[in-house]
Amino acid sequence: LKKVFDKVRDVKSRWEYGLRNIFSDEPITDEFFERLEEHLIAGDVGVALAERLVSDLKRHAQEKRLSNATELKERFGQMLKDMLGEGLGGASKGLSFNGPVGLILLIGVNGSGKTTTAAKLAKLLKGQGNNVVLAAADTFRAAAIDQLKVWGARAGVRVVAQDPGGDSAAVVYDAIQSVKSTGGIVIADTAGRLHTKHNLMEELAKIYRVARRDVGEEDIFPLLVLDAITGQNAISQARSFNGAMPLRGVVLTKFDHTAKGGAVLALSSELKVPVLYVGIGEGIDDMAPFSPDDFVEDLLG
Ligand code: GDP
Repeated sequence: LKKVFDKVRDVKSRWEYGLRNIFSDEPITDEFFERLEEHLIAGDVGVALAERLVSDLKRHAQEKRLSNATELKERFGQMLKDMLGEGLGGASKGLSFNGPVGLILLIGVNGSGKTTTAAKLAKLLKGQGNNVVLAAADTFRAAAIDQLKVWGARAGVRVVAQDPGGDSAAVVYDAIQSVKSTGGIVIADTAGRLHTKHNLMEELAKIYRVARRDVGEEDIFPLLVLDAITGQNAISQARSFNGAMPLRGVVLTKFDHTAKGGAVLALSSELKVPVLYVGIGEGIDDMAPFSPDDFVEDLLG
């Protein structure tokens, strides 16, 4: 298994390395732009965005009468940083709560890493001195409830749960009531699949509706948990979930062994939803805040 991971990691670094290589000390030619565009598409940036980035860069090269590819590297890095910065929008503060109760709703398809992320966030926020409670709102799978309880113990936080088959909105409601007098942050792990997609979106919308009676909209953070390998599919997933509740951020999981990175750019550019954290392993501490600047530095070296 380790070999497989190493291999994927290798693919990732090869993509980054390749991008760095494209901006090498050579004349700017049409072939240079073609290579760059192909490389971006291969890295999950998406065709439309790759074309846009390349044509902006081409215009810049013409306006400034640049002749060497290395001269374009800084400009390209700045373009990416600006784009990621725009995506961060007003949420650049990340998770911040005004009222006594904050709610984080983790949504995403099964297997994307919601339960693991719930635990990682719980430990992080508890470590910052918050009263944190996990809500087992994936009531559809008994195993999911048990798993969250195990993670809750590891993170050292309380888990609010009902029996399998219960009402997920009621679980979140209970969790909110349990911290109302003292103040605190509820992190809800939700279902990733029900009988139909329509069902799931209805259920998620109901959780949000019910929670809003007690918690101000500015203190509710629906975060999309997305497997970094999802690539271009990420956009359509994000759109569907965004229909159920207004997404305020993304946690990109499995960045340690699958990411080619382009999905971050695509998400930021198309949805204006910030990537807040990246998951970098299966352990409870394997999560890092996402920094656009570091990301671009990494990419272009
Ligand atoms: P859920 O179905 O969305 O709740 O997903 P889980 O939290 O159960 O995670 C699914 C699988 O992905 C598990 O095997 C996790 O250990 C693994 N996983 C989650 N996040 C990460 C990550 O950031 N890196 C790696 N390598 N594995 C992860």
